[in-house]
Amino acid sequence: MGADSAGGHEPRHGSIASFPPATFDPEADRPHDECGVFGIFAPGTQVARLTYFGLYALQHRGQESAGIAVSDGDRIHCHKEMGLVSQVFDEEVLQRLPGSIGIGHTRYSTTGSSVLCNAQPIVVQTPYGPIAVAHNGNIINTRTLRQRLEGEGIRFESTNDSEVIARCIGSLHKGDIVRAVRETMAEVEGAYSVVVLTPTQLLAFRDPNGIRPLCVAALNGSDFVVSSETCALNVIGARLIREIEPGELVVIDHDGLTEYAPVFPQRPAMCMFEFIYLARPDSNIYGRSLHAVRRRMGHELWNESPCDASVVIPVPDTGIPAAIGFSEAARVPFSEGLIKNRYIGRTFIEPDQRMRELGVRMKLSALKENLAGRKVVMVDDSIVRGTTTGQIVKLIREAGATQVHVRISSPPVKWPCFYGIDMADRKDLIAAKRSIEEIREHIGADSLGYLSLKGMLKAIGMPRDRFCHACFSGDYPIPIPKDLRVSKFALEGQNAAPAPEGALLDGHGRAGGHAGPNGRVIQIEGLKDPIPA
Ligand code: SF4
Repeated sequence: MGADSAGGHEPRHGSIASFPPATFDPEADRPHDECGVFGIFAPGTQVARLTYFGLYALQHRGQESAGIAVSDGDRIHCHKEMGLVSQVFDEEVLQRLPGSIGIGHTRYSTTGSSVLCNAQPIVVQTPYGPIAVAHNGNIINTRTLRQRLEGEGIRFESTNDSEVIARCIGSLHKGDIVRAVRETMAEVEGAYSVVVLTPTQLLAFRDPNGIRPLCVAALNGSDFVVSSETCALNVIGARLIREIEPGELVVIDHDGLTEYAPVFPQRPAMCMFEFIYLARPDSNIYGRSLHAVRRRMGHELWNESPCDASVVIPVPDTGIPAAIGFSEAARVPFSEGLIKNRYIGRTFIEPDQRMRELGVRMKLSALKENLAGRKVVMVDDSIVRGTTTGQIVKLIREAGATQVHVRISSPPVKWPCFYGIDMADRKDLIAAKRSIEEIREHIGADSLGYLSLKGMLKAIGMPRDRFCHACFSGDYPIPIPKDLRVSKFALEGQNAAPAPEGALLDGHGRAGGHAGPNGRVIQIEGLKDPIPA
């Protein structure tokens, strides 16, 4: 998802319709991150405006809703609505958010529908004052925790897993918010990077594997900022201090920054897709520039899958760094070959049949002068469902290319994500069902090459055991509970029937799988076994 991508999702009942719909939009054939979080502690400063700028920089992490909560030292004021940051906030709204501590959130839903009640931050009243919570990730024991909290008489207002975190902290808050958060971290399983606002404090914490990114920065010497990505720091002039460690809690208040070491240390497992596509190229993770890493992925892609070509073109925007790298390593000219319409994002207008038939052409057009008569290498970051790559190949051929070779700067995606990335059911992942040669035939390319997991790790320059790579390898860093129903609507009682006790489940709670050698791989009957990446 490019930094300026507005994304495109299927229209949902009772929600904002999206355009183009899934079958219509190249962005729909990509994994989607679900949230960006931001927090700021700046005594003497009205922080709503700075939070707004921070969210603007994190817009690529979620375009369905946006929200800001600020504390004036006594009360918490919150505004959240469906839409882009620029649609949700204006001068008048920001003026109504007085306070010098704030948190913000941009959302793309992976759990719960795209409706206002699921927007964040979530404000919870406790006997010790209000708290506001914003979360990036996906909790895998949501159902169990929610049932337990409801059994204690706690009422929920939304269907998302983030409210479970907020209500859990609220229920455990007996006057010591740090203790309440640490006890919540002991209860919650899955991927989470969370910011919490109290009337006087800003707290930030990550799950023990550190699957989603979160960093802390200094602002003007004595103030602090936390953010999903470093790109939001640059916008407001904050200076990165460091990434918050997996399992760590930091508390920022008038005493400064206090660090609480992980209670249950696990191996780090940063999501590999943050490096490939999700995070902005001008962000840093693990101290590495993502643009530079993606460019090196292009070098490795050439080393592993060279081909005879006369021009290298990216699928804009996220294929650009890897295409530059491929072109450098191949010593073949890099050129624009596809022009993206950047203004075709979200709208309230439903497409008509003719628009549907136009397909990918609504979003991309081919530059004939750079393609005609040439052997073209088209570089993209990933293929998930495989619904649009073939259309793009066709566009390039129609523009006169004599050959079209497709190179993908990540391995084949064969397994669903349980940790907050909305990519597809396993049955919809093209690489779970077809060999590389069958995919090549399906998309109509002259050749197709993927970067291996080994090549990706070489480009990043870090060992395999620092990452989650489950969607490529099937090796899930956090065991998936047997009763899991990771359906987007799990809390709404739709889609999945309860599985028998003891069954291993696929991403939608359907029984029929069996454990792999490490007891963690989930395999679904009727689908191919994973090929070791
Ligand atoms: S399964 Fe894939 S997308 Fe999900 S957290 Fe792991 S690497 Fe990221």
